Amino acid sequence: MNTPPLPEHDLSATEQCVMCGMCVPHCPTYALTRNEADSPRGRIALMLGMHQGRLEADDSTRAHLASCLSCRACERICPSKVPYGQLIDAARARITPLHSPPRWITWLRDGVLLRPARLRLFGTWWRLLQRLNLDRLPWPRPLARLARLVPPLVPILRPRANYPATGPRRGAIGLFLGCMGPVFEAENLRAAIRVLNAWGYDVSIPENQGCCGAMHQHGGDPARGQTMAAGVETTFQPLGLDAVVGVSSGCMAQLAEHTDLPVFELSDFLVRHVPSPLPALRAIERQVAVHLPCTQRNVLRRPDSALNLLRLIHGLSVVALPGNDRCCGAAGTHMLTHPEQADALRAPKIEAFRTLGSDQLCSTNIGCAMHLGAGLREMERSAEVIHPVRLLAEALTAPRITSEGASVGSQPPGQSST
Ligand code: SF4
Ligand code: SF4
Repeated sequence: MNTPPLPEHDLSATEQCVMCGMCVPHCPTYALTRNEADSPRGRIALMLGMHQGRLEADDSTRAHLASCLSCRACERICPSKVPYGQLIDAARARITPLHSPPRWITWLRDGVLLRPARLRLFGTWWRLLQRLNLDRLPWPRPLARLARLVPPLVPILRPRANYPATGPRRGAIGLFLGCMGPVFEAENLRAAIRVLNAWGYDVSIPENQGCCGAMHQHGGDPARGQTMAAGVETTFQPLGLDAVVGVSSGCMAQLAEHTDLPVFELSDFLVRHVPSPLPALRAIERQVAVHLPCTQRNVLRRPDSALNLLRLIHGLSVVALPGNDRCCGAAGTHMLTHPEQADALRAPKIEAFRTLGSDQLCSTNIGCAMHLGAGLREMERSAEVIHPVRLLAEALTAPRITSEGASVGSQPPGQSST
């Protein structure tokens, strides 16, 4: 844990803000509305008013606090070290139920995403619809928006408990799947196992890992979010692993801040532990653009890991997506609760990708990948945003992982591993 968390409703750290305004130009919501109440300084003033009992949290206050992306660009720049991320979580908890997400989002989160059997059922059914080209039916709102977010699905990951190292053994790693991972990131997770094994690590995947709790943390219920993170810690802690890694920086940021596990986003772990000699990698002649999620940049504070990791691959031209200092608008469930704001923040990213003319877009966070992928699919139906580890797995000549977890022979580059 980097800093001890504030008590759930404690807004006293608002008093640290000297109202200098240095954070304001870095705030994506202020850039859209030019309204001081949609800036970090404005939101802190609202929270300070609540803390001092001068302000009643009415609908207007709720709207300004709800429109914050929790991207924490403001926190990173703040000379007074105001813990903005903790404050906005605490403020939302304080105004719950006024802040509570719409009921359909709560149902989606608690009734589907946190129920692995239901999520697998949905994944199987939706994959069938995709194969029959029926996933783009004129669904009623808000289902239409949800439907657009689902990436092209592959068979669900049903992992074994252990995958032994294929290179000279260097340690044991736990792989955190995330509640959505086995369905929405199955190919990223297979690639993660393959590359970690080739890097010399045994990979442990304990059953019933649960969810990191980030959606609850930032959605008005930080106590439950932290309880869920503690559940993940209880699962991994007894295994005595060297590290716990995951393919989604949002989940890993939540676990880094609310557990004592040695947690890393996967590309960051891999680039910190590049083996010598490096396993044989095929050249990939392609240009890839890399989107940097806010959680990687502003919370985990390892912005260059994915770029540096991809530069290990010969032939690959690696470019940072212009505008990486701004949130893409995904921000957890924000892309569902604030669709217009989310799309306005995504538009310049899609335009930058088109201008670059890159072949592929990478991101290290599932929410960003889904949101950006939906934007790309408005132009090309099969487009998806992949985790950088997929390119490494493609370049490796090591065995690949099937959906059931057995190792089989190597595959040609660019071919799906399921
Ligand atoms: S949050 Fe920090 S940067 Fe922003 S106004 Fe307050 S002291 Fe200044
Ligand atoms: S977290 Fe992001 S959106 Fe929220 S106030 Fe800070 S910079 Fe603005």
